[in-house]
Amino acid sequence: MTNEVLIFDTTLRDGEQALPASLSVGQKIRIARQLALLKVDVIEAGFPISSPGDFISVETIAREIQGPIICGLARAVEKDILACAKAVKPAKRPRIHTFLGTSTIHREKKLRRSQDECLTMIAQSVKLARSKCPDVQFSAEDAGRTERDFLCRVVEIAIKNGARTVNIPDTVGYTTPEIFASIIDDIMNRVPNVDKAVIAVHCHNDLGLATSNSITAVKHGARQVECTINGIGERAGNAALEEVVMIMKVRRDYLAVTCGVDTTEIMRTSKLVRDVCAMPVQANKAVVGSNAFAHSSGIHQDGVLKFKSTYEIMTPQSIGLKDNKMNLTSRSGSHMVRSRLESLGYREKDIDIETFHPKFKTLADKKGTVYDDDLVALMESDTIEEIADTYKLEYLNVTGGMGVIPTATVRIVSEGKAREEAASGDGVVDATTKAIDRVVGFKIEVKDYHLDAISEGREALGRVKIVAVSPEGTFTGIGTSTDIVEASAKAYMDVVNKICRMRKYAPKLRGKRAKPSL
Ligand SMILES: [Zn+2]
Repeated sequence: MTNEVLIFDTTLRDGEQALPASLSVGQKIRIARQLALLKVDVIEAGFPISSPGDFISVETIAREIQGPIICGLARAVEKDILACAKAVKPAKRPRIHTFLGTSTIHREKKLRRSQDECLTMIAQSVKLARSKCPDVQFSAEDAGRTERDFLCRVVEIAIKNGARTVNIPDTVGYTTPEIFASIIDDIMNRVPNVDKAVIAVHCHNDLGLATSNSITAVKHGARQVECTINGIGERAGNAALEEVVMIMKVRRDYLAVTCGVDTTEIMRTSKLVRDVCAMPVQANKAVVGSNAFAHSSGIHQDGVLKFKSTYEIMTPQSIGLKDNKMNLTSRSGSHMVRSRLESLGYREKDIDIETFHPKFKTLADKKGTVYDDDLVALMESDTIEEIADTYKLEYLNVTGGMGVIPTATVRIVSEGKAREEAASGDGVVDATTKAIDRVVGFKIEVKDYHLDAISEGREALGRVKIVAVSPEGTFTGIGTSTDIVEASAKAYMDVVNKICRMRKYAPKLRGKRAKPSL
């Protein structure tokens, strides 16, 4: 058996479906490009049949991203497989990933099919997929709760009909390392044609065991691990790529396996996914949390200063964190800003320093010190949206305080015309959104409001994330500023503009998303 473990990244499929609103094609491409730099083996780019937007994303990634295998998801039914085959076709190395629920509960309650009927569906769908694409993966959804004998037959039939990879997902995060090890052992020992395919695992983190279960499976012969950046995904998420990969690297002595991931791209990828998906990473998160390499105990600090490995099992450099802490201020020239952006992973063609530097100066004048996180936030707020905004907030003035009725005045420009409105509300943010509603003429229902400080210091950049609902669907708006009312207004305007875009491009981009639970 080979000792190489393939890393299958499903940030853009399992991770994305857990976000309150879909990512745009441009956002998905940006993440996919970084995943290629991280050198993952497979990118699961989406679920093509689920919506026209998802189809376009998978097809665009298949056409534009070089390096990894590009995979799309399809239920074990003809229309899904045909749509998936079409979407992944432009890739140099396309893969169709088809799946069927195999546990009793899935068979009886969801599919209403007998074991034999399921086996027939698997054989037919894998065969159809193979006729469209040489690389086919089959997943036995809810394998963790599937009867052992039946699971072995499922794996055998999938391989017999042409699946090169068979995935054993713990869809509901129910298994434990020892139980999962015995499932993998049974498959390895009892499936006669198991040597003809790679056995993969896909673990969910409902009980906090996703990484542990994945690594145990590797120890028992699994050679593909499915994971997501920062562990994002359905419910409590998936196994975190950075954890799985760093365990294989740091504990090579124990696991004796390798993988092709360039670990020095981990931090950059983590930050990009955090910012594009607006999903914060907890400070004590293994490997990529902001405290992951901070030593606070005096004894530890002393030890690390004398000899790093006393308390450090891996170096910050190994995941791409630089020691270099030279701070940028308003005196930093464009050359220095450009070089810092390059060290953060932006390519030359991504950086338009002429327009970026004045924005940087404005921020530096407000903040004093500009940290790497500020730069990334500033870059992302610059490049995230690919279609022009309909409305632009030009002026905002609020009054609030104790014993004062909170009021806001806004001036918004649209198609060259400026309009001013004022409103009062329960607070200054509420007054601001009401004033914006008056200008744009439609009302949005805010479901969730979240404020994060995304950099250090008293004048830290605040990021406001709003989840809002309108008849067009659910939208996420992001706004960053050193002022939280301004950040809130920007996030609200982001939602307004996304709704306008949806109205403009609907019905092309509109479509119901049928979400798989793999
Ligand atoms: Zn999943």
